[in-house]
Amino acid sequence: MTTTSRPRIRFAAAFGFGLVHVAALGVLWVGLSWQAVALCLGSYYLRMFAITAGFHRYFAHRTYKMNRFWQLLMAFLGQTAAQKGVLWWAAHHRHHHRFSDQPEDIHSPVQKGFWWSHMGWILADDYEETDLESIRDFAKYPELVWLDRNQFLAPMLYGLGLWLAFSWTGLFWGFFLSTVLLWHGTFAINSVMHVFGRRVFETKDTSRNSFLMALVTMGEGWHNNHHHFQASAAQGFLWWQADPSLWLLRLGRLLGIARDLRPVPERVVALARERAAWHFTGRTFERAREAFDAAQASWDARAEQLSAAWAARRGTALASASQRLAELEAARQRAAAQLERLKADYAAALSAAAAGTRLRGKRAKALAEIRVEELRAEIERTRQSLVDALERLVEAAGGGEGLSSPA
Ligand SMILES: [Zn+2]
Ligand SMILES: [Zn+2]
Repeated sequence: MTTTSRPRIRFAAAFGFGLVHVAALGVLWVGLSWQAVALCLGSYYLRMFAITAGFHRYFAHRTYKMNRFWQLLMAFLGQTAAQKGVLWWAAHHRHHHRFSDQPEDIHSPVQKGFWWSHMGWILADDYEETDLESIRDFAKYPELVWLDRNQFLAPMLYGLGLWLAFSWTGLFWGFFLSTVLLWHGTFAINSVMHVFGRRVFETKDTSRNSFLMALVTMGEGWHNNHHHFQASAAQGFLWWQADPSLWLLRLGRLLGIARDLRPVPERVVALARERAAWHFTGRTFERAREAFDAAQASWDARAEQLSAAWAARRGTALASASQRLAELEAARQRAAAQLERLKADYAAALSAAAAGTRLRGKRAKALAEIRVEELRAEIERTRQSLVDALERLVEAAGGGEGLSSPA
């Protein structure tokens, strides 16, 4: 599982992180009551909203607008969750989307293991700094930069306020336990949502969807949706995909606080609806397979046509070959070999999925089907690069006239 090395964990950060977990045990001393549980959950969801609707959908993705006052209030409320500064959070999240599950991704369970993606990375030396370059659009507000630098102010004021208002119940249930739950709820998006759940869209990362996690995280459990289309204020694309952050944002729009909520494009909603229908009628897999096979046949024909055109021109073209041609030729050979390998893997995965249906129950079947889907995405990418290389080769060797693209 672990393919790239991990940076060192900072002792002071890990110590503070552990200490808050220990402090959360103070609830045992305070004792259980309905008010205590309500305070804990209320404080959890209030701040979860600020993290998902504020830090994530507003600061990291700019999916709606607010004025400078509400923007600052949202940033402050988000920072009471003790997840470092608002600019730090949003800048690192933008990085995650740029490199999802690639070696550069600082919290990918695929690259550095589950626990690293969950909380190791946040305690690491290397990721302490806020990269103001990648969050320039908000770093131009001095009040946000100041808040970002003074990351302990908001959690301390918030904890103090809870203690003054609700005494020890406020401090231990409303602040410490609630904050620990909030940490793990938020971190689960980076870890759990790249490992467990259903893949609906063939994104080039491992993101997944989960109804349960959407309830825990006020809508962020539709993480595969989000990786497929990041620019919308919504992460649940269909009416039944619970997205409480979106519902509150719509209320905010009604109250004149949030403006210009960016919508999910109709084609994305349509695709989500189609995929959901497949799922509920139990035909997901077969339909996806038919579509894939049809697309494959058409692309294979295109590659074959281009290959023939290239073979006819190769002799003369290579004689005057430039470095560029040699590179393209190498890329073509690489992609062709890779495609052969992937097709073999795909056939094996398909029969594993079929065997899973008969023998090993739902879980094994789902895993095998996910593998098939991942291979499909990889085949599509590889096929694309093969056809790209062929097209450029044919073009370089003197025109590709008369070669039509597949429908
Ligand atoms: Zn995001
Ligand atoms: Zn992600």
